[in-house]
Amino acid sequence: MPSLQNYIALVTGASRGIGKAIALALAKEGADLAINYRQQSQAAESVAAEIKTLGRRCITVQANVSDSAQVGRLFTEIEKNLGTVDILVNNAGIASALSPEQITEADWHETIRVNLTSVFLVTQRALPAMRAKKWGRIINLSSVAAQYGGIVGPHYSASKAGILGLTRSYASFLAKEGITANAIAPALIETDMIANLPALTPDRLPVGSYGSVEEVARIAVLLAQSSFITGQTINPNGGVYFT
Ligand code: NDP
Repeated sequence: MPSLQNYIALVTGASRGIGKAIALALAKEGADLAINYRQQSQAAESVAAEIKTLGRRCITVQANVSDSAQVGRLFTEIEKNLGTVDILVNNAGIASALSPEQITEADWHETIRVNLTSVFLVTQRALPAMRAKKWGRIINLSSVAAQYGGIVGPHYSASKAGILGLTRSYASFLAKEGITANAIAPALIETDMIANLPALTPDRLPVGSYGSVEEVARIAVLLAQSSFITGQTINPNGGVYFT
């Protein structure tokens, strides 16, 4: 597989969980990294320290990716310290479990803003440099909840389904420009998000166990290295939904 050396990757929400594993895996393949996070600065700094021991350049940038001004600042920092973004992993997300009757308008807007609008804002800011280089990789974290509903709630499922439409649209607009766009739709990967949702136990999956963050990270690396896979949804979901 092609090395990712001299490519610059931004992973949103990379202080922990799936984003952290993807950032480390991209760095192991040679990429330099921008680690974005919202609150947990110490966790982000420890990811950056691990990446620097691999010999890669790495910066951390605090920014709420659902806010366009903060996204602007995020890219200013990255471009000043590393260069323009070649590999974009839109991973930051939230999941608050709410039944249909519990969801307020504020819950709805917050989930859509953080999980879906952020993908639009960050991609919009990354695209001009990718188009100028005629090379780019966009990898978006959706969820099995987009496909079969799930139990987090309609607000979460809708935000993750929106990501699939966005991904396919970018893929079809950008295919001729050397830019691919793909989605990963996991189920029950063992992270803080799942620990905070006690109803999501591994017996919900046919394979009977949680998935690992490393498994999702391997898929992200494959997508970063591939010029021929675009517009696809890859499903590390323990067999809970067949596409
Ligand atoms: P975690 O809750 O473990 O980590 C979330 C990460 O996102 C943290 O780094 C957090 O930063 C960051 N973050 C949250 N909101 C923002 C924001 N507004 N701006 C910037 N960063 C933000 O989540 P997971 O690793 O489990 O999930 C990662 C992605 O994968 C999410 O999009 C999730 O929906 C999706 N997914 C996860 C599944 C799972 O089973 N775990 C299944 C299906 C999809 P900080 O540390 O500073 O709070």
